[in-house]
Amino acid sequence: AQQKLQRIKTTKAVTVDGIAIDLLANIEVPEDVVSAKASGAVGVGLYRTEFLFMNRSEMPGEQEQFEAYKHVAEAMKGYPVTIRTLDIGADKQLHSDEIVTATNPALGLRAVRYCLSEPHIFHTQFRALLRASHYGKVKILIPMLSTLAELRQTKLLLQRAKDSLSQQNIPFDEQISLGGMIEIPAAAINAEAFAQELDFMSIGTNDLIQYTLAIDRADDTVAHLYNPLHPAVLKLIQLTIQAAEKYGKPVSVCGEMAGDIKLTRLLVGLGMRQLSMHPSQILSVKSQILQCEEAILSRQAKKILSQSDLEKIEPLVRKFNGEFA
Ligand code: PEP
Ligand code: MG
Repeated sequence: AQQKLQRIKTTKAVTVDGIAIDLLANIEVPEDVVSAKASGAVGVGLYRTEFLFMNRSEMPGEQEQFEAYKHVAEAMKGYPVTIRTLDIGADKQLHSDEIVTATNPALGLRAVRYCLSEPHIFHTQFRALLRASHYGKVKILIPMLSTLAELRQTKLLLQRAKDSLSQQNIPFDEQISLGGMIEIPAAAINAEAFAQELDFMSIGTNDLIQYTLAIDRADDTVAHLYNPLHPAVLKLIQLTIQAAEKYGKPVSVCGEMAGDIKLTRLLVGLGMRQLSMHPSQILSVKSQILQCEEAILSRQAKKILSQSDLEKIEPLVRKFNGEFA
């Protein structure tokens, strides 16, 4: 089966009726570009930079970050590389941090909240990202946005980093795209506002499910309740896609849902055209896409979305998949 999949490595991911889907790779360290490229990914949809910051006593400086980001940008040879700013907190802790003691770290000072409270960290990362943007198609992705105010403060800091580079005559991509993760229910419900102020959006379903269902994504005792097919989760995904379409902005899924072949048809049917996943999943997901007809999928997805009972959704999705198996 693996050999059969290898044969579609350079085949474009297009449905039977001609709808193209971009399949991108999630990476955690620069060396992951090797598996990303081997998988036939048409870019990096999520580079989780926090791994550069974890398990060490000092923060990586601008030069070290720049070299890591540049390596990925160059290795992907003109394909887009979406680099997420530091998403620290909750399950990912910095070595020496007091936020370890937060009573509820998933709801605490994490990700963009943390970076806005430590602007020098954000500034250094923005300078490194901007410098790397001169060497490839870098896009910046902000995690855990919940308010427009956070986005506006972020934009001010990004502008400040741009200005400082301009003053030093250091080149960067002036048109660099700024995207936001939609992974807090508030952001999904308010997706139209975010769609207007962002260049692109990426749905982080791991956290979106966690926060929508109040299920700790790392707690085994409630893992049976962690379900991407919950109608509330599907509605939030749909709201985000509709907002993106309304304002002509690209939207992707970069959570685990994107790499689950049992969910590929549903996501394509909901209108998703970009999926970013662990490189090991790309060929299997592509093989699903090559067999589907989008027109049928969107009709089925509408039927599923009209259901508000998870127990009715699950058999519908199984049938949906089985028809093509
Ligand atoms: C997500 O939340 O779905 C996501 C992609 O980010 P992470 O898993 O790093 O929180
Ligand atoms: Mg997340």
